[in-house]
Order: sequence, then structure tokens, then C-alpha cells
Amino acid sequence: MLSVWVPELDLRIVLPMDFRINTKEKNLFLILSTISLILMMVVTTLLWWLISPRLHEISSVLAGLSLTALRVFFLILLVGTVVVLLISYTEYNLLVARFAIGAYIKILFPITLLLGRLLGISKEKIRESFVCVNNSFINALKKKFKSSNLLILLPHCLQNIECDIRITTDINKCRKCGKCNIAELCAISDRYKVKMAIATGGTLARKIIIDNKPKFIIAVACDRDLVEGLREVFPIPVYGVLNIRPEGPCVNTQVATKKIQQALDALILNEQKER
Ligand code: SF4
Repeated sequence: MLSVWVPELDLRIVLPMDFRINTKEKNLFLILSTISLILMMVVTTLLWWLISPRLHEISSVLAGLSLTALRVFFLILLVGTVVVLLISYTEYNLLVARFAIGAYIKILFPITLLLGRLLGISKEKIRESFVCVNNSFINALKKKFKSSNLLILLPHCLQNIECDIRITTDINKCRKCGKCNIAELCAISDRYKVKMAIATGGTLARKIIIDNKPKFIIAVACDRDLVEGLREVFPIPVYGVLNIRPEGPCVNTQVATKKIQQALDALILNEQKER
């Protein structure tokens, strides 16, 4: 369930879960990225067609080699696309899942974003869809970790704006008043014995990651910060949870804590779990 704190009434309203941002939509990113790959193939074919007469003039061996290279490139793209679609929709544990995440995060995401912009599709929707695809890849890895190797990274905007406690230095200073999700998240962190930290920006997030050296991160953030974070910390796997912004960006944001619990249940080694 999603709850919204109304300070004027000193009241917390509980809303049905369906109210949250739909994070299950992978199709948008997958369709756009597949079109991007097809366009890449068309562009490279055109380039080859333009330069091949010149290559033939220089050497027929060079022309033959360039054609072979083009065919291998196409084969990689086709096999890669099939593998990515298979992982995304089945979350099947294919050995290449990790490589596929890297290729998508580092190479295909910017191209897909550019295509989306040309088609008039908002960056926000593409990023949200990309986070869903990333999470499918992460699920496909089917890895388990000790709780000490996990890190939950939260944005500062989850804290109620009227709360004057400095939880950025130590989240355990939270007095658990219940006016924001931090109280609930502290309880989850205690129960699962997982480190949790708040980052006020990219620099602090990097420092937290360097200091803690996690093997897996569960990150809560808006679409923009999540995608930037995913790209920056790769190859550390990150499970992304989009925050909810009932009052607009960066103020009194919320998170579906159940998603974090579900991720921890799936990630922590069975013998480590203590309820
Ligand atoms: S739950 Fe914690 S962080 Fe949130 S408003 Fe209350 S004391 Fe502040």
C-alpha cells in the first residue's frame, strides 16, 4: 500500500498500491532499442555500400574482409537482440546476461534515448522503462549474497521536508515518527541486517559505494538519477526502485517499501535470513 502524509490534517492517508508509478512497462525501451539496432544496421550497410567501390580499388582482399566484418557485426546484433528479448521477458539465467546488461547500459541506452527524442517520447518514460529492463536482467542473474555485501541507497528527498534531523550522516538518528518512509526503511534495514545510506547527490553516492564496497546495490531514486547511477557504478549490479512523487520532484517523495523487502528476500542467502 502507498501512504500519503497530510500535514495540515496531521493524517496519513493509505492509498491502493495501483496508484504508484507503473514500473512494469519494459516494452517501450525494448521496442525503441530494437528499432535503434535495425537503424544501426541500415546505416552501416549504407556506409559500406558507399565505400566498397573504393575498397575494391585498393584491394579485393580488403573489400572481402570489410564485408565479413559487416556480416559478423550484424550477426552479433541479431543474436544480441534475441538474447536481450529472451532475458527481458523470461528472466531466464543466460550466461550472457551480465554482458547484455553492460552493452545496453553503456552503448544502446544513449542511442535509444536519442531515437525516443526524435519520436517525441519523453526521456522520463524511456528511463522508467529502461529501469524495468535492467531489473529483469538483474533478476536473470539469479545471484544470492550475504546481507553484509548488500547496500540500500536512498535519496534525501524521501525524508519529510519538515523533519530537522540530520539523517544524511547517520540514518539511525531517525526518530521513527512515521511521517515518511525512512522509519519503515530503518526497520527493514535492521530486520535484514543490510547497510542503508542516504545520498544527497552523485558525489556522496560514489563515496558511500567506495567506502562500503557492496557487491549488490538496491537503489531508490527518480528515473534520471537511477539511470545515471546504473551507468556509473556498472559492473556492480543495481536493482532500481523508482520513487513516487505525489508532491512533485525532490519533495516528500515516497517508495513502495514492499518492493525493497521482496528484492531482499530474493537476494539474501537463505542461511542469512532472520525474521
Ligand atoms: S520518520 Fe524519521 S526521517 Fe521521517 S520525519 Fe520521522 S523522524 Fe524524520
